[in-house]
Amino acid sequence: MGYFDFAQICLNGHVVNDSAGTYPQYNENFCTECGAETITKCPSCNTHIRGDYHSDAVVIIGGSRYKLPKFCHNCGQPYPWTKMKIEAAQELASEINELTDDERELLAKSIDEIIKDTPKTTVAATRFKKLLAKVGAPIAESFREILVDIISETAKKSIWG
Ligand SMILES: [Zn+2]
Ligand SMILES: [Zn+2]
Repeated sequence: MGYFDFAQICLNGHVVNDSAGTYPQYNENFCTECGAETITKCPSCNTHIRGDYHSDAVVIIGGSRYKLPKFCHNCGQPYPWTKMKIEAAQELASEINELTDDERELLAKSIDEIIKDTPKTTVAATRFKKLLAKVGAPIAESFREILVDIISETAKKSIWG
């Protein structure tokens, strides 16, 4: 039988240590990538952030497959980095001059939906892609950079192929 370790992640979403319980020697109080504070527990419910899965039976070749979690598995609240990236993308959306007010609002709203995997994701992703086509490659690329770690796989495929 295996078990989940807990992870240490900075507030901006850099995974500092995906096995913070087993290998505490790799822990950092502050992120060496960006200087932000690191956390090991959900700020909303104080439950450990789920880390890497340790198993006696399976050896994963090529290192960890740990994926940055977006929402807390215990309380469902978005983690600080998820909130921050959504906010950054929405800020970017509000600054695009090529779009009308309605389109900017629609773009900002779509961001909430393409983060999650829900029945609405595909619709939101299609809308998002259409709007991105109007704003040009540099801005579209900025959205990709902000959202790449937190966007749903379904949406990622339909927007960026
Ligand atoms: Zn960081
Ligand atoms: Zn929580």
